[in-house]
Amino acid sequence: MKPSFEIAVFEGDGIGPEIMKPTLELLDRIAGRHGLSLSFNEVPAGAAHYARTGEALPVSSLEAARAADAILLGAMGLPDVRYDDGTEISPQIDLRKELDLYAGVRPVTLAAGQSSPIAGAKGRRVDFVLIRESTEGLFWSLGKGEVSEDEARETLVITRKTSEKLFRFAFNLAAQRKVNGRGKGRVTCVDKANVFRAFAFFRSIFDEEAARHADLQADHAYVDAMALRMVQAPWDLDVLVTENMFGDILSDLGAGLMGGLGLAPSADIGDRHAVFQPCHGSAPDIAGQGAANPFAMILSAAMMLEWLGHQNDIGAAVEAGSALRRSVDEALSRSLALTRDLGGQASTEEAGAAVVTMLEDVA
Ligand code: ATP
Ligand code: MG
Repeated sequence: MKPSFEIAVFEGDGIGPEIMKPTLELLDRIAGRHGLSLSFNEVPAGAAHYARTGEALPVSSLEAARAADAILLGAMGLPDVRYDDGTEISPQIDLRKELDLYAGVRPVTLAAGQSSPIAGAKGRRVDFVLIRESTEGLFWSLGKGEVSEDEARETLVITRKTSEKLFRFAFNLAAQRKVNGRGKGRVTCVDKANVFRAFAFFRSIFDEEAARHADLQADHAYVDAMALRMVQAPWDLDVLVTENMFGDILSDLGAGLMGGLGLAPSADIGDRHAVFQPCHGSAPDIAGQGAANPFAMILSAAMMLEWLGHQNDIGAAVEAGSALRRSVDEALSRSLALTRDLGGQASTEEAGAAVVTMLEDVA
């Protein structure tokens, strides 16, 4: 019997549906080639849904997400649709909490030949992963900060339980990347242990996990120094693991290294569930024009296939994900069908079609 997976699909708002369309078409095609069966269960959520119904993330959608093998998400939120208290509609953040998705995975890759804002990157392959803890750190305080006339305070929380899971995840990922030839077998803990006791604690838990992986290298870096290294020598990095707020900032730096938000994929992963979505938002300024770059969404779908493969021990799914990623890399290396954000003229549809063409080449 074919390995089969059910995917919950949140198209979301703005350009979400536009980038989801070519992505699902590619997934169908690649599943066929690799002997997988994928079924897509489209479920509603987001700002437009809230405006229509008063619910941003219906219980039935959350339950569908919980029941699925994996979750694909386009983008959610619109600037002029807000909750009554003025905060943004962001069911993607609710999903992180509800499904305990503690590891935010942000790969930063540059195909050889792809244009990059980093001069020294020309002709080199950049391929590293930033893992951002996504349930605590400085974001633990979200909505709980204390503000008076004279003072404002927020709380940073690092727990042993979450940190242990986070670092285990990071070392497992480094081991996987070493085996498949993408990584150097090294994990770097990014912190500010020289100044904050909470980060010294974070680092000490990292060291405990590192001691269990004699076959992998482990080192540390202060977050400020890491920002410099990411720009000066990103090709030397492998797996970076850090706190929520630091990860938030460094992942935008990573997207910048890749040449923009339109290319940056992401995953939010827990022990049982995972959401795959581009780093960018719903881009309302270009929605409806057919001009959105679908590559970040497609690369997120490739990460989903690889994760499904590793999680369920199905090699064909890992290979399918890798073929999809390499097809996007190849389209970028050849500067095929570049959308406006990359300096080209191509439509979303043409960019998707270029990846289909490359699929024939890399397979
Ligand atoms: P969020 O708060 O949800 O992160 P944001 O306000 O940071 O959203 P985005 O929606 O990510 O904003 O858009 C930022 C800019 O990047 C916009 O000008 C948008 O058009 C552009 N952009 C984002 N994604 C894409 C894409 N896939 N293709 C082309 N341009 C994009
Ligand atoms: Mg943003």
